[in-house]
Amino acid sequence: MTKTIINNARVIDGLGSEPLQESIVVFESNKLVYVGREEEYEMSGDEQVIDAQGGTVLPGFIDSHVHVMMEYDAVQKRLETPFSFKFYQAAEYMKKTLNAGITSVRDALGADLGVKKAVEEGLVAGPRLQLSINALTITGGHGDGYTTSGQTVELLQADYPGMPDGRADGVEEVRKKVREMLRAGAEVIKVHATGGVLSATDHPEFTQFSLDELKVIVEEAEFRKGIKVMAHAQGAEGIKQAVKAGIHSIEHGIFLDDEAISLMKEHGTFLVPTLLAPVSVLEMAEELGMPESAVQKAKDAVDIHRESVAKAHKAGVKIAMGTDAGVMPHGRNLRELELMTQVGLTPMEAIVATTKTAAECLRWEDKVGTLEKGKLADIVVVKGNPLADIASLSDTDTIQLVIKDGKIEKDLLTQ
Ligand SMILES: [Zn+2]
Repeated sequence: MTKTIINNARVIDGLGSEPLQESIVVFESNKLVYVGREEEYEMSGDEQVIDAQGGTVLPGFIDSHVHVMMEYDAVQKRLETPFSFKFYQAAEYMKKTLNAGITSVRDALGADLGVKKAVEEGLVAGPRLQLSINALTITGGHGDGYTTSGQTVELLQADYPGMPDGRADGVEEVRKKVREMLRAGAEVIKVHATGGVLSATDHPEFTQFSLDELKVIVEEAEFRKGIKVMAHAQGAEGIKQAVKAGIHSIEHGIFLDDEAISLMKEHGTFLVPTLLAPVSVLEMAEELGMPESAVQKAKDAVDIHRESVAKAHKAGVKIAMGTDAGVMPHGRNLRELELMTQVGLTPMEAIVATTKTAAECLRWEDKVGTLEKGKLADIVVVKGNPLADIASLSDTDTIQLVIKDGKIEKDLLTQ
């Protein structure tokens, strides 16, 4: 079988060490077979060569928090969108995601098993998906679209075949709800442990679900399939409760206090900051119109969010890159890396958070996240040196070549 060599590039392998110079990346079929110095590689004679033109080779990027089935729209527009149209839109969103260099994502609610199957079977282009199906929420919680008018307007419609409704209250209901999500194909369980910015009837600092409920959710997921739980958690109390219950990753983590941070360190909990989310909510409020309550909550969140993530990083909490893409337009995911460097991560740390650590957060570290022999050929070539200009990654044209599972999905190098 033909091997493919990518040469003429600096290689950032995702492990966090200095870029490899005079090195190449070689893959065969969908696996990496060599990463290292060019002169030490033994040619077999049937290689084809991709010239990276002096750019940088990296592992395919991983976004630990996206919603491929949505892109935020004003309520009126949502009400006018036919149900099935959203699946066609999702195909476009996933293509944009892939074009941005993201080869794996964790879908933090909204995508069902059919969406994943369509990507896996090559019907539509998209990143490798890890599904949560739908998030568990308390009645009146972050995931409950009930509005003060008495009408229910969901961000994303649920309760159709393959997409159970997420509402559950009390330990027995949440146990059953976890089982329903697993039955529908969930590979990770998502739970709304606190209120949030976009929900009408709550606030980021409201604690939702009791410690007992959260423990049962974690236990049920672990017992059944060794599956982990990710928690939308913004207020400090809700975060601490989630960490104590054994939740695997804290999403957003807007109001982190010292106790929450030390608990996260102690439990080895991941933080998925989604710094881009409140920033984008404010940008979009102008453009699309958004409830005043959401705008005010986003304004309140931006600065404290940055301080929280900065503190957590300094303390050594594991940080996995995630954006909440879907709340903002898809395809600009790597803007998050620039925001991460603004709160104290080095460019290399931001890259590791988007490769190796994100793979660990998804528990896919045995197959993706670094450029190492034996891993899947998920490879990105970018123009220039992202360590010198991390913001350049935000521009999709910087992403020159995207290979997922050994297949070229985007190629600007040979054009
Ligand atoms: Zn989200």
